[in-house]
Amino acid sequence: MLHLLSAPARSDLLSQRVNRQLWLEMLLAAAGASALMALVAGFLVLSKGAQELQRDAESLQRQLSVGLTSYEPLHNLQRRLQTAAVAQEVESALVVDQRGLVLAASNGALVGLPLPHVLQLPNQHHLRELFAECPSTSTLIACLTRDEVVFHGPLPWIGGDVLMTMRQYPLALEGGGRFGDRASLITITNVRAARTEALAFVLQVFVAGLLPLGAGCVGLMLQLRRVLIPELLRLAQIDALSGVYNRRAFTEAAEELLRRAQQAERPMAVALIDVDFFKQVNDTHGHDAGDQVIRQVSELLRQAVRSTDLVGRLGGDEFAILVQLPGDAATQMLERTRQMINATPVSTAEGQQVQVNLSVGVTSTAGQAGYSLDGLMGAADAALYAAKDRGRGQVVNLESDSQAARGRRSESFGYWQVGGL
Ligand code: GH3
Ligand code: MG
Repeated sequence: MLHLLSAPARSDLLSQRVNRQLWLEMLLAAAGASALMALVAGFLVLSKGAQELQRDAESLQRQLSVGLTSYEPLHNLQRRLQTAAVAQEVESALVVDQRGLVLAASNGALVGLPLPHVLQLPNQHHLRELFAECPSTSTLIACLTRDEVVFHGPLPWIGGDVLMTMRQYPLALEGGGRFGDRASLITITNVRAARTEALAFVLQVFVAGLLPLGAGCVGLMLQLRRVLIPELLRLAQIDALSGVYNRRAFTEAAEELLRRAQQAERPMAVALIDVDFFKQVNDTHGHDAGDQVIRQVSELLRQAVRSTDLVGRLGGDEFAILVQLPGDAATQMLERTRQMINATPVSTAEGQQVQVNLSVGVTSTAGQAGYSLDGLMGAADAALYAAKDRGRGQVVNLESDSQAARGRRSESFGYWQVGGL
């Protein structure tokens, strides 16, 4: 019969905790969804931008290659490359023949230098990247035959700092090269501005997405708080059959009530109430009649206490109440309630009347347990056990019993003393 009650979080804290957690999760969801949206948009924008840059670089390649393949004088080609660099169409551009010699370059100082030598120069790190896989002079020359478009920088798969293109063309320069010779045109284009633009767009998408998503989440949250959470909390706290607190909710609320009562030094009483021979009601009149008894007892108990008191169904045919009364007053109130419930038979669906007997064990905060709920429940359980033991259908308060016994003892002691004098 004894139900040891743990002390889970109090019910008012439960709703606060649920609300706080929901706010946090909603905000995280909005930020996460917005970031995801921005990431997808950013990826699309950057990859689209990268394709465009690639197309632009290739068309620039074609324009510059005209000077390489149209039997123009070498200085014309040199001028074309320098003009492209001045117009910032390229960061740098150079033409390297198939032996690795620089024929023309946007930076005139490189003209006539062998490629391995150029790669050693301090400001040629982009070129070094382009030929990173061809370390020796012979492999370097072989690498010149590759047709390549590569982005180089922090975001290599969609666009980095620079776009490097290298393509081989048949060499046809006035006075330069033999028939059948080929040369590679290498261009290095700066794409930082385009990348920064795309990243700014990503940021805008993130901020723009955050507002409607955040507003949507807040709306959803308010709706949840208004409708769903109160209903869920009610369902989590109320015993479906009896309509009174279930064991967990009773425990939480009782802990809180006892804590406040202790602070205010208010006397409280706890009672455990058990239906006598309830199994017989089920066996004789059916389970539905048993349910009806539980419902009626709960309702009458609820009517018997004040709205600030607590009634809970601990399970089966056992109830608990916590009332703001001293032990004796609570015992009297429970005796009246017991009699009233006993005098109010339950009508079954078959039209039979079932008389309900209760055994009640009462204890109070004036006893040894003080304001400890576990202690009070243990003492009330012992009193309930005594009520069953003494023949059921009664209210037992073991503290009043022992006080009465002490009173009787002191009376007889006084009589003996008086008689002895
Ligand atoms: P005692 O006087 O010693 O308390 O005897 P009792 O028959 O009331 O006690 P016992 O614990 O033996 O029986 C309780 C019965 O309550 C057993 C179970 O079938 C029944 N019961 C438990 N929950 C429900 C319920 O929700 N509805 C109904 N109808 N019966 C229930
Ligand atoms: Mg019982």
